[in-house]
Amino acid sequence: MSSALVHNLIRPELLALHAYHVSDSSGMIKLDAMENPYHLPQFLKDEIAAIVADSEINRYPNPDPFELKEKIRQIEAVPEGCDVLLGNGSDELIQLLALALNRPGATLLSVEPSFVMYRMIATFVGMRYVGVPLGENFSLDIDAMLEAIRRERPALVFLAYPNNPTGNLFSANHIRQIIAASPGLVVIDEAYYAFASDSFMKYIADYPNLLVMRTFSKLGMAGLRLGFLAGSTDWLDELEKLRLPYNVGVLPQRVVEVLLENHGILLQQAGQIRKDRAVLYKQLSAIAEVYPSEANFLLFRMENAASVFNSLKARGMLIKNLSGAHAMLENCLRVTVGTPLECQKFIEALQESIV
Ligand SMILES: *Cc1c(COP(=O)(O)O)cnc(C)c1O
Repeated sequence: MSSALVHNLIRPELLALHAYHVSDSSGMIKLDAMENPYHLPQFLKDEIAAIVADSEINRYPNPDPFELKEKIRQIEAVPEGCDVLLGNGSDELIQLLALALNRPGATLLSVEPSFVMYRMIATFVGMRYVGVPLGENFSLDIDAMLEAIRRERPALVFLAYPNNPTGNLFSANHIRQIIAASPGLVVIDEAYYAFASDSFMKYIADYPNLLVMRTFSKLGMAGLRLGFLAGSTDWLDELEKLRLPYNVGVLPQRVVEVLLENHGILLQQAGQIRKDRAVLYKQLSAIAEVYPSEANFLLFRMENAASVFNSLKARGMLIKNLSGAHAMLENCLRVTVGTPLECQKFIEALQESIV
């Protein structure tokens, strides 16, 4: 057996980890992963099919797709003088940042509960991790944050804005205090920017230690894997050295470009999701304690959440059970805002699950 050999050679912190769990969703209504539920119009599907057919998949991708990056800079209103760095999803960019800043003894700091990949990736790259508990209603505990920054002097701070899995936007004023107090780099993770009322993109030229990270995953391109970091070229030029040269394939590059040319369609879908979020919030409020959300999902708390989750699953409805993920998430569930029909079916299944 090779098992003893594997256990002798693999790093112990990796042996101790559990792999990121992705539930089997075949045949289910899938409201667990913050995906956009809408399809593209036929004309756009046809255009994509033609582009795919014409792509030189026998060649390596363009390592520096200038036109795609230019389009991203325009559409995402990246400030003048700042640039973007492309990642194979923003998960890859979190890893790249941790690798780049992990000098001996360096610390990655974030809040909890938040996006689990910050902690996981710190472990992957052997970086020290500190998670500061959130305060009341999942707001930033600014005193605890400033104290932790003084104490730990983190090389890298991640804040998700809006936060996942809680859905709220932190106080922008508190985030500015954190950026000003941080001796290291602060990355604002705006994975849900398309559903939110605020952004830090407009400030990236104002702070030497601020980068904004976004992804197109939640906007309808989760399968294409494209995220980007926006910030000053001082940072990006160094990070660029660590980026694997062909991290974004030929097909994602070309398909994303076409989708960004038709950006209005995606924004319209995001607008629909925001409206449906308000409807779902109201319906869910009659059944559970629901938290305000500026993202495309809702976090809610109810008695016996684990058994409700299982009962929903038995009814073909997959959401996310967060009970047990963190002490503050006791009895919490998270549902992605789907189509109006999916949301309706979810509410019905939920009602059946609690009787
Ligand atoms: C979904 C998510 C990501 C990862 O997005 P990908 O680009 O698909 O890797 C990053 N940060 C947060 C907060 C997320 O919720």
